[in-house]
Amino acid sequence: MPIVYFVVPCYNEEEVLPETIKRLTDKLERLIQSGKAEEESRMLFVDDGSKDETWNIISQYSKENKYVGGVKLSRNRGHQNALLSGLMTAMDNCDCAISLDADLQDDIEVIDQFIDKYMEGCQIVYGVRSSRKKDTAFKRTTAQGYYKFMKLLGVDIVYNHADYRLMGSEALKALSEYSEVNLFLRGIVPLIGYRCDYVYYERNERFAGESKYPLKKMLKFAIDGITSFSVKPLKLISNIGIIICFFSIIGFIYALISFFTGSAVSGWASTICSIWFLGGLQMLCVGIVGTYVGKIYNEVKRRPRYHIEEKIINDEDDY
Ligand code: UDP
Ligand code: MG
Repeated sequence: MPIVYFVVPCYNEEEVLPETIKRLTDKLERLIQSGKAEEESRMLFVDDGSKDETWNIISQYSKENKYVGGVKLSRNRGHQNALLSGLMTAMDNCDCAISLDADLQDDIEVIDQFIDKYMEGCQIVYGVRSSRKKDTAFKRTTAQGYYKFMKLLGVDIVYNHADYRLMGSEALKALSEYSEVNLFLRGIVPLIGYRCDYVYYERNERFAGESKYPLKKMLKFAIDGITSFSVKPLKLISNIGIIICFFSIIGFIYALISFFTGSAVSGWASTICSIWFLGGLQMLCVGIVGTYVGKIYNEVKRRPRYHIEEKIINDEDDY
């Protein structure tokens, strides 16, 4: 039986926390009773620099409820950083950690399946939303368009999966080796590898409080996701440059013909051709510089180059 940690980032969640703690405690107790989780399992609430009573609630509950633990960040660092800090704190004490939002929009009843898959040997189990019926039409279309766009850019992310997932201690250790500052966990976790599986669930509405992801934060998050994982936008510049150069050659031929047939105003051909050609050349050069910038960018992230899943080394003496 694994020691399971629930990791819950909280930012100004005073309205939902008491209920969340109640529901999660109930869930954890049921898991322990049914022999799915070890008695040492815990819930870890990360206070992401909240300005309300969030931390007081966490510390108050921790006095009377042994399952409640907390981490308080010195200031608001954003959902992804808060989540990472919780996972890294849980890493040394647990066999697997499940990350979930404080508003319990993700169905906690599928946690049993998460643990089953972990017991079958999966290091990462992704919670995937089976439908987005409860989302607003705007959020649904933008989110799904975004996942598709990311795929197009060659970023390996799991469709309709947010940050509801289980990670085993080996996967957590691998995650700790990613030292990048622009965190986009949904992009990093698939890079880790190991055996993984998916669990499908229906996402509910927030039972209290309001979203801590206003449009502005969501946009920043989306742009972060693209620019942290894909250098294709840089390559695009070179491609546009090449296309413009190609058109300038056609333009050049056209201008020459016009010149010789005498239908062009004098000076037009040479001006137009140089504008197009130089424009294309500049684009291409920016693109080439961009390619190098992209490489530097990938190097400074200092991502681990591999994770070893298993190792067999035979001792010579045994043979
Ligand atoms: N959150 C956080 N720091 C932030 C913003 C959000 O820790 O700066 C937490 C928040 O408390 C919640 C989770 O991230 O547990 C997801 O936020 P929310 O439910 O508001 O996002 P939505 O479900 O609307 O996308
Ligand atoms: Mg939410």
